[in-house]
Amino acid sequence: MMRAPRSIGLSRKHTLTGPVTHPGQTQSQKADSTSISSSSSKCQGVQNGAYNLRSPIIKRSRLTSKANGGIGKDLSEGWAANFAIGCTHACTFCYVDSIHRRYRSKALGFEDKPWGSYIYVPDNIDEAIAGTSWASWANKEVMLSSTHDPYLPLLARHTRSILELALPKGVRFCIQTRSPLVIRDLPLIERYREQVRVQVSIATMDRRFARAIEPRVAPPEARLRIIREAKAREIRAGIIIAPVFPPMRMRPDPRADVAMLMEKLAEIEPDHIYGEALHFRGSNLVLTERSTGEPISASELRDFDREFGIIFKELLANQGLKGEWWNEHRK
Ligand code: SF4
Repeated sequence: MMRAPRSIGLSRKHTLTGPVTHPGQTQSQKADSTSISSSSSKCQGVQNGAYNLRSPIIKRSRLTSKANGGIGKDLSEGWAANFAIGCTHACTFCYVDSIHRRYRSKALGFEDKPWGSYIYVPDNIDEAIAGTSWASWANKEVMLSSTHDPYLPLLARHTRSILELALPKGVRFCIQTRSPLVIRDLPLIERYREQVRVQVSIATMDRRFARAIEPRVAPPEARLRIIREAKAREIRAGIIIAPVFPPMRMRPDPRADVAMLMEKLAEIEPDHIYGEALHFRGSNLVLTERSTGEPISASELRDFDREFGIIFKELLANQGLKGEWWNEHRK
């Protein structure tokens, strides 16, 4: 049951400058951080299924700059390659569930399945990859992927096939992931480093909070390792610090949290840094409340977005970094 909305209190100084908590690593998180070669292909309690995907795999995407007709996020040149329905990372804040629920849940039969507990992979995935005329997207940047992580254990080999076919044809990719499985493909990506940027998302440095909001994702440190390893191979690598949550009991101080991450980024020197606040979409606040035991007021997220955008710039400047805050209401 939702409790009465509370103030997210960003204008209260103590919520921004107090000490940050950083709980110890759980056993399951330790397992995650070393799971690159031992990940299983199926998650417990997840409904697996199949569907038919028509080629080309690449479709138009609005996750691009306004100059390219999109919503102002620099994630591609207006193209995305998606090849699954569902994402077993199960991030509670994810925006994708409501899209699938609207268009796919009835036909595929996952209406009663919560986000993160269904995944459908095309039964004709190999044909769809082979049937895509990759050369038609030569010199265009494609987001890989926008509605699921391309490096879910169940999908990593298909992502590899896409890269093997598309990179020699000149396609450029913005690989967007939270999974260290991408590290296995860095030797391949390195050969086409002019065509690829690897982009990692991190919402928080607090492991206990990360476990609550991204229950099946490797811990933040393991994701920073992706950027380090990509940079070591001179592959362009960046980060999206997202979504930044307002103050929560489990992680009361967003400024200290992001400041800790920025300190690490100052050492790593990513090629680009973006930031974005939590936005209200579909049932993401309800899922987050279930997981954290604390309500978030949708109406106050807008103020938090604006206020934290200013803080984000300050934190970047403190570390001599450059980056961009994606305000929900970009002009
Ligand atoms: S990794 Fe991305 S697509 Fe998957 S659940 Fe998390 S936010 Fe959603």
